[in-house]
Amino acid sequence: MPKSRQWLLNGHPRGRRIEDDDFRLVEREIGAPGDGELLLKTLFLGFDPASKGWMENIADYVAPMAIGDVMRGSAVSEVVESNHRRFVPGDLVVGSTGWSEWHLSDGEGLVKVETELPPTAMLSVLGTTGLTAYCGLFKVGRPVAGDTVLVSGAAGATGSVVGQLARIAGCRAVGIAGGADKCRWLVEEAGYDAAIDYKAGDVCSQIKDHCPGGVNVIFDNVGGAILNDMLGEIATGARVAVCGGISRYETGGLPAGPANYFNLIFRRASMTGFIVLDWADEFPLIRKRLEGFVRDGRLTYREDLQHGFENAPATLQRLFSGSNRGKQLLKI
Ligand code: NAP
Repeated sequence: MPKSRQWLLNGHPRGRRIEDDDFRLVEREIGAPGDGELLLKTLFLGFDPASKGWMENIADYVAPMAIGDVMRGSAVSEVVESNHRRFVPGDLVVGSTGWSEWHLSDGEGLVKVETELPPTAMLSVLGTTGLTAYCGLFKVGRPVAGDTVLVSGAAGATGSVVGQLARIAGCRAVGIAGGADKCRWLVEEAGYDAAIDYKAGDVCSQIKDHCPGGVNVIFDNVGGAILNDMLGEIATGARVAVCGGISRYETGGLPAGPANYFNLIFRRASMTGFIVLDWADEFPLIRKRLEGFVRDGRLTYREDLQHGFENAPATLQRLFSGSNRGKQLLKI
């Protein structure tokens, strides 16, 4: 049986950034698969900013993480041995199997990779990323053709899909991202109508320039000051979909409340947080729809592939420095 390297949680990064010694690398024997079990070889890991919240135990929609637990995370894996009736050796599967080179599974929560796109798409455009973009935009943001949709974290994995879906729905898409390069990419390749560089200063006036009729739908990945600036420009009846708050993740604690929240009253607007897992029953159908958009050329997606299992902690940290270009993945 193979020995497996695993990354364990070694610290709760509360109120501070993630440090290298929040993780510990170990090597363990992985037993043979028992009755109804599978032996999986991890091929690709996918990374999500929510990992920091899981490490801190700030999120109560997932089980808490204890020191010594295998780091939680999604992966595409190959079935190497199977005593499970649903899977045969050679199948590719996706699931939350953690930062482990090899994994024993009882099959619970595993989804077969059944797509004509490359298998990593199941971690990016057809994975939580694409599903979050789709559900957050259509079920919470409820855009109508002609609306202006404003997205923070727009050049990220989720944000870049949101803008393109908004365009498919007949909306004008405006994205906020950090740096001229990302903003150029948003307009030239990711289908956004306009981009706002928050690092270039005065986000408020840039939003006013690019959204002269006000913002009908906000899709917020960032929170903090950027959310406040976006709330300052909502149109009557606006919908604010709160997807994430990555500006908080480095600082710990809870972010300051947005001073502009009173605009929700003046503009008769609504602001709704969501967890994509609540629509899990619809994922197979939504995946098909997203794959259709990719195949007919209306949706492009970008993946940032790093290499080497030993680099998993550094790869996670790329999300918080803005180094990732598209969905952050690691090839094992
Ligand atoms: P991502 O956007 O690909 O990567 C993170 C990006 O966030 C970075 O590239 C960086 O872009 C930006 N960022 C980092 N620190 C920042 C800061 N202090 N201020 C402003 N921007 C900052 O990550 P993703 O996987 O697509 O996730 C996007 C969001 O969706 C996250 O907040 C995640 O937690 C959330 N999410 C929510 C759900 C749900 O069910 N609600 C499900 C999945 C993901 P710049 O260079 O532009 O700053």
